[in-house]
Amino acid sequence: MVTEPLFPAWRDTALDETLYECRELLEDTGFPTVARWRERGGKVLGHFQVYFPEEIAHAAGMLPVKLRGAPVEPARADSLFGSYLCSILKTSLEIALSNKIVLDMFVTHPICDAARNLAGIWGRNFAYPCEILYLPQNANSGHTTTYLRGEYDRLRRRIEEVAGAAVTDDALRASTEIYNTNRALLRDLYALKRTAPWLVTADEAYVLMAVGSVLPREEHNALLAATLPRLAARNAKPQDRVRVVFEGGFCEQPPLDLIRVLGRSCYVVDDDFLIGLRWLTDDVPLDGDALANLAEAYVHRSSYSPVQHDLRKRKEDMLLERIRASGAQAAVVTAAKMCEPGLEEQVTYTRTLDAAGIPYFVSEFEENMTSFDHLEIQLETFVENLLFE
Ligand code: SF4
Repeated sequence: MVTEPLFPAWRDTALDETLYECRELLEDTGFPTVARWRERGGKVLGHFQVYFPEEIAHAAGMLPVKLRGAPVEPARADSLFGSYLCSILKTSLEIALSNKIVLDMFVTHPICDAARNLAGIWGRNFAYPCEILYLPQNANSGHTTTYLRGEYDRLRRRIEEVAGAAVTDDALRASTEIYNTNRALLRDLYALKRTAPWLVTADEAYVLMAVGSVLPREEHNALLAATLPRLAARNAKPQDRVRVVFEGGFCEQPPLDLIRVLGRSCYVVDDDFLIGLRWLTDDVPLDGDALANLAEAYVHRSSYSPVQHDLRKRKEDMLLERIRASGAQAAVVTAAKMCEPGLEEQVTYTRTLDAAGIPYFVSEFEENMTSFDHLEIQLETFVENLLFE
C-alpha cells in the first residue's frame, strides 16, 4: 500500500489556497495523483459512474478511481462510439486512450444502454481486465441482497488476481471503516450546505467532494476533516438568495464554471452531484460478513438516481423529500445532453413539481460546454421572479 500523500499541496495552506489546490487537482486532465500512485508501484482500478463498492479495491491495496469524464476533446474515442451519445462515455475513454490515466482494471455497470457496452469497447482497446458489475435491476426481490453479495464476491476474486493480493474479511472491514468516515464527513459537508450555505459556495463544496474521486480515502478524509471546521468558522453573512436543489448530476458532471454560475445566483442547498460517492446513506456495519454488509447497504440504505430502479424510492418522491429536507424553495432540474435516463426522469420530476407547486428551472448541460452567459441570464430571471413575486 502506498503511504506517502499523493496530494500534499493543500497542507499548511490558508482555506482559500486549499480550495484553489483542490480545484487545480480536479481540473488537471493529467490526473497527477493517479500517476503518482502508479509511479510508486500501486495499481489502479477505474470504475465508471454511478456507484461502485470501492472498499473491495481499497482492501486489495489498489487505488479506486471514479471515472467522471474530463474536459477534453474526444478525438480518438469519438470514432469508437455512435453519434447520439452523451459526452462522458467518450471523454472517459479518451483519457485512457491518450494515456492521461493508466489503469490496471476497468469496471462499468449496466446503468444505461450506452454504459453497458463500455466494457466491450474498452476490452478491445486495452489488455487489462474490463468488467461489468451487474448491480441488481430489481431492488425489491427478496433475493436481491444475496445476489449482490455473490456479484461482489465475483468481483473480489477478479480484483485479487489483478492486485496480486487476497482481499480478506479483516481488510474489507478496515476499508469499510475508512469509507464510513468518508461518508460521514461528506454528510457533514452537505449539512453545512443546508444549514449555512453562505459559508461554502456550490463550487467549493463540489471540488472538496469531487477530489475524492482521485484520492485514497485516507487522504480525502484528512482533507475534509481539516477543511470543514475552517469553512464553518468563516466570517460570512447570509444573503437574500433563493435556496435550490440541483438535480441531474448523477452521472455526467456539469462543468465547474456552470456550478459556479449557479452558486452566484442562488444557494444550492442539496444536489445529486457524483451521488455515487454518497450513495450509502449510513454507516456500513463492521461486524459479520463484510461483503453482505456492503450489499445490504446498497439495497436498503442508499440514495436514488435515474439509473437505479426501486419501488420504495420513487424518484419524484425522493426529489420532493430532498427539497423538503433541505428547506429549498425551488429546484434546478437538469440532464446531460443525450442522457436518456436523465432526460426521461425530467418529465416525471417537472410534473411532480408542478403538482406540488414548487418552482423549477429546467436546463441541459454538457461537460465540455464553455459559454454560460445565456444560462446565467435565464437563471437570474428565474431567481428574480421568485424573490420579487
Ligand atoms: S450520462 Fe446518462 S446516457 Fe451517459 S452514461 Fe451516464 S446514464 Fe448513460
